[in-house]
This record gives sequence, structure tokens and C-alpha cells, in this order.
Amino acid sequence: MATYVIGFPRIGEQRELKKALEAYWAGKITQDELKSTASDLRKRHWIYQKNAGIDMISVNDFSLYDNMLDTTVMLNATPKRYKDIKDCTDRYFAMARGDDNHKAMEMTKWFNTNYHYIVPEINENMDFEPHISKIKEEIAEAKELGITPKINLIGAITFVRLSKVEGDADKIIEKLLPVYKEIISEFKDYTIQIDEPYFVTNPNAKDLELLEKVYNELASDANIFVATYFEHSNEANEVLAKTPIKGMFLDFVAGNENSIKTLVQAGKEVGIGIVNGRNVWVNDIEKSAAFVKGLTETVESDKLHIGSSCSLLHVPYTLKYETKMDEDIKSWISYALEKLDEIRVINKLVKNEKLSEADKEILEANKEAISTRKTSGKIHDTIVQDRVSNLTDKDKHRSVSFEERIKLQRENLKYPVLPTTTIGSFPQTPELRKLRRDYKNGVISEEDYKNQIKEMIKDLVKFQEEIDIDVLVHGEFERNDMVEYFGEQLQGVAFSKNGWVQSYGSRCVKPPLIFGDVSRPKDMTVEWISYAQSLTNRPMKGMLTGPVTMLNWSFVRDDQSRRTTAYQMALAIRDEVEALEAAGIKVIQVDEAALREGYPLRNDKRGEYEDWAITSFRITTSSVKPETQIHTHMCYSEFSDIMDAIEDMDADVISIENARSDNSLLKIFKERGYKGEIGPGVYDIHSPRIPSTEEMVEQIKAILNVLPTEKVWINPDCGLKTRKWEEVKPSLKNMVEATKEVRKSL
Ligand code: GLN
Ligand code: ZN
Repeated sequence: MATYVIGFPRIGEQRELKKALEAYWAGKITQDELKSTASDLRKRHWIYQKNAGIDMISVNDFSLYDNMLDTTVMLNATPKRYKDIKDCTDRYFAMARGDDNHKAMEMTKWFNTNYHYIVPEINENMDFEPHISKIKEEIAEAKELGITPKINLIGAITFVRLSKVEGDADKIIEKLLPVYKEIISEFKDYTIQIDEPYFVTNPNAKDLELLEKVYNELASDANIFVATYFEHSNEANEVLAKTPIKGMFLDFVAGNENSIKTLVQAGKEVGIGIVNGRNVWVNDIEKSAAFVKGLTETVESDKLHIGSSCSLLHVPYTLKYETKMDEDIKSWISYALEKLDEIRVINKLVKNEKLSEADKEILEANKEAISTRKTSGKIHDTIVQDRVSNLTDKDKHRSVSFEERIKLQRENLKYPVLPTTTIGSFPQTPELRKLRRDYKNGVISEEDYKNQIKEMIKDLVKFQEEIDIDVLVHGEFERNDMVEYFGEQLQGVAFSKNGWVQSYGSRCVKPPLIFGDVSRPKDMTVEWISYAQSLTNRPMKGMLTGPVTMLNWSFVRDDQSRRTTAYQMALAIRDEVEALEAAGIKVIQVDEAALREGYPLRNDKRGEYEDWAITSFRITTSSVKPETQIHTHMCYSEFSDIMDAIEDMDADVISIENARSDNSLLKIFKERGYKGEIGPGVYDIHSPRIPSTEEMVEQIKAILNVLPTEKVWINPDCGLKTRKWEEVKPSLKNMVEATKEVRKSL
């Protein structure tokens, strides 16, 4: 019985890699300096794992940017357009993030995490061949430290299924097989971990056939552990049991790994990934040990290993730097380093090994944390719990139907046909960021801060009136981030000081910690929005982040169901919705930017997710008067498989990303006869380009070819916070011009 970790974070506990990367890109340090930082970090991380008693320590989990991109390089699958770049490191970064002469490859989210990988672009004619110098160098480094590593690879099937493929994907997998075979034979003296997480996402019969074929071939003469994570993969496990792999690493946090017996009976070793690699709450060490002991009653214990459910990449490094965190909250969480300790102690308990003094302390603290979490007044708030248990059907439905509501709203709000609006945020300039920072650091007074923000709101209201937008916004100048802004004001949500998690490349995020029952002690947005409303006779749209997005971009507590936490969040935001309405705000937008990405990976879990997610949105938005108009916004364009859920949200107006998808998604709204009003983005805010009036006239006409005129709103794709004023002003002016022109032609 050994301990293992699927992978370790690499950005550095003080974000050393981020800083080195950005310095290198800015020409401030040399490539050698960058590489030496990278090498130091690898060594530090290996030593951490070695000292923590981890038996199987990975190489090739490190990456300068992304492991999928590393795999692209390893297989010689670099797209042609980068071949002119001589230096291989610069070529690598050009693929990752573009340069003056090269467009970057696309990036997208790694399964349902907030980590983004670089999407490979592959075709049948590529000359795949093994490029393994990176792995060899890292092995040599690890060996210098006395570590015999396990080697991490991303599997051929996952690699191809997650790629943009030209031609026949299955043929490409065939072509890759000999390349993988060669790589594996190079490392046949080591344990090799091959990640095939693709198989947790509803593989079909053909995928499974391919899986058997690939691993029959690859595993015959090597020590291969196939790793899956984020969900269970019983179908895949049953198939892999028939191949000559040595074993599997499975995710026991996410899934119900029913096939463990099949695997062990087939002589396979099984990694019990019981320490959560993507959430931060302490593991219940005794409970986990008891669970594994239970397993050993039916399977031989020397076939089992203890490890992390997935790579620890998705959690921060160490609590060491959390010097300002509430001591109780701190005792309830563990980051990567603390998780290594958990793995070791669980392993010792299962093996009935004697605990060292340090381990005894860890276990005691762990038991204490588990017990205080059950009762702490910081977590448990009976008022909030009662509100959730007293929710009735009425809380989840608006009082009258959309058809009746919209009549009242149109009368009340008096907006013209093709009403114009924006998604909420306006440019976040360096001066604005400094203003917020100065306020936070006490450099300027609250009064001073508020006055300056109000000046900006005033200017924005004036601008919107001048260019004649119909439904105005206040600009979100007071917000750093759409989740953090609300999280900071909610009871039950905490923030870390150093809880950085890699999002992509050098970019890190610090997700909020939803640790306790959530409530809203006081107004969060009312002052700003009612001030903005006081400056104009036009409707001012109140702007909130929805409950599902709040959850999907946070570390969510694991001591109650996600549904319950979501309902608490929904009620807290509903309080704000009601306060806005009471302050005279007639239009309220509740953004659900992350609804789509929160979908479970397995089809059989989608219904449950949709049920609590959509219900949460409705709890937030259903208590308002019929004449109060509820908007929602979603920044994506794939709706075909979630249309029923979107319809079920029962928003009066939905704005969506559209400008980059040639209106094809609108056809779905049309075919399904979507009942609400729709604002399909008429221009792409992700680009600095200023769209002309003419092209937006064409765009609006194209939209009207698909959707009925009386249902259409005119707005940009998304919020404008990443753009500059010089881009935003003319773009919006043109947008309103274009709308007026189309109105005339109706
Ligand atoms: N209201 C937010 C904004 O305009 C929405 C952001 C988003 O959808 N990601 O910035
Ligand atoms: Zn958006």
C-alpha cells in the first residue's frame, strides 16, 4: 500500500512561476533565468512531497504553461503556423498566447474546473513523433534528489478527444499509438501514470472499444496506471480490467467507483483517490481510513494505494501564508501541502502503523476541526436554515405568467421596439483600479471614494443619455470582480490572502470560500444603483451576480448539499433584489455567467444539477412584482442542449453571446419558440475593433430574420470592463445608430 499524488501545483507558493513568466515575456529576465526558477520550483515541490512521505511522486506534472500544450509538443503536433519560430521556448509561448506575428491557439476549460488548457489542433497528416527531452531532464533532476518518480502522461484518447481535429479522429489515435509506445518503452523502468479523464464523460461503445485496444497495446510491457478523475468511470474501469495495465487511480471524492472489485479480481492495483484535489475542506481522516479499511475486507490491501482524487493543481499551496485568516476557518481547510499530510496519515491508519508525534498532532487537530465544523456558530445560522426549509412552491414561481408580465412591463418601462442596453460593466481603467485600491488600503476616506465613484456614474449616465440608450446601467465601477464583490459582503463567505489557484498560464485566481450558512447582513448595491437612477428618468438596470455563478466560481462547503448552499445564496441575493425593487428599481439583471460550465460531466447527473441550479435562480428572482423586469445574462453561445433549463429560468429578458456565432444559436431559440425577450449580442466585446454602423445594421437585420422583432433587444456580447473608453464610446454610439436605422425601416 503506497501513497501517491496525481499531480502537484507548479505556479509556486508565492506565484514565483507567474512572476518569472511575466518578467520573461516582458524581456526583463533571460530564458535561462526563467528555466532556473522553474527548476527550483520543481525541486521544492518534490522535496515537499518526499518529506511528506508520498511514495509515488510525479514528473512531467510541471509545465511552463499547460500540460496539454506540453503533450502537443511531446507528440510533435505543433501546428504549421508556428514552424517559423526557431527557439522552441518562444515557439511554445507563441502557441500558448500568440505573439506579434502568430495567433494563439484556443484555450478552454479543463472539464468542469476553472483551469484552462490549450486546445491542440491536429490532423491526419501530421508527422507525429516522440519528443521527450523535457521528461528526461525532469527525471534526471528528480533522481538527483533521490526520488524515483512516476511519470505523468496525458493519454492518447483524451488528448485527441479534447483536440480540434481535422479528418478522422480515430485514425489519428491509431497513428499516435506507435508514438506512445515508443515513449512508454523509453520509461519502462518507471511507473507511468496515463491520464484518461475523457472516460468520465459518457464514453460511447466505440470509445470503450478503442480504450481496450489502446491499452492492450501500450500496457503489455510497462507499469501503467490509468488515471481518471472528476467523476467515476465504471464502464471504462470494467474495460481496462481486461487489459494488461498495472492499475488505476480513481476519484473516490466525485464518484461511486463500483468496479473496484472487478479491477482487483483481475489483479489490478487501485489508487483510492480519497483526498479531494479540487476543494479545500479538511478530509475526515478517521472516516477515510475506516472507509479504506472496509474495502480491505473484500480486496487484498496490498493492491490498494491512497492518494489525491485529482491533481492538487486545483487548490492553493499552503496555509503557511494565511496569517490573517480567522483561526477557526483556517482549521477547517487544507491546501496542497496539508493534503499531503492527510494522505500520509490515512495511509498509516489503514496500515495500523504507529503514528509519529507530529502525525498524532495532525490527527488530533483534524478530529477537532471535524467536530467544531459540525457545531460552530460561525457556520451554523438557524435563521438561514429555517428560511431554506420553509421555502415553498410560491418562492419558486413568479406570481403571474410571462405573457401577462411582459405587457405590464412594456407599459411601465415604455421602451421602444428594439430597446438598447448594455450588459453592465464599463471600462476598468488603471485610475479606477487605483482608486479602489487606495480606498481599501485606507489611503483615501470612504466619503472621498464614494464621491469619486459617483462622479463616474454621473458621467456614464450622461453619456448613455446622450447617445440615447434606452435601459441604462451604472457601470459597476465599484466592483473588482463579479463574484468577489458580493462574496465580500455576504455572511458565510471568506477570502484567503494567498489562496491562489492557476487558471491558465500565468493567470491565477483566488476563489472565495463559502464556509457557512450564507446571508446578506445589509444592502450590497442599492446605494450605487439608486444614486444612478436618481440621475435619469430612463430605467436604470440593477446588476447582480446569480447564485449558481457565485457557487461555481467558489470553493463550496462540503458539509451539506450544494443544493442547500445554493438555496441559501439564492435567498441572500433575493434580499438584494427586493431591496432594489423597494428602492424604485424597475429592471434587475441577475448574471449567470457560469451556469453552463457548472454542468456535471455525466449525463445521469444533469437533471439533479439543473433542478437545483434553475430553482436557485428562480428563488432569487421570483418574489418581485409582475411589472419588475428580470434580466439574465450568459456569456456563451452553446444552448442547444440546455434550452429547456434556460426556458425554465423564466427570466423576462436574456442577453447572450452571439456576435461570434453567426446567429446559428438564435435558430435554436426560434425553433424552440423561446417565450421571453432576447438580447443577442450584436458585437464582439472581446476584440478592440470598433464595429461600424453598417455592419451592425446587417447584424440586426440578420437577427430579425430569425427572431420576431418584438422580442429582440440590442446590446453588446458581454460587459465592457476589459475594453477602453476609446473603443466603447464609438462602438455603442454606432450600435444605437444602427438600431435607429433598422427601426426606421420596419
Ligand atoms: N454584468 C457583468 C458585466 O457586465 C457580467 C459579466 C459576465 O457576464 N461575465 O461585467
Ligand atoms: Zn458575459
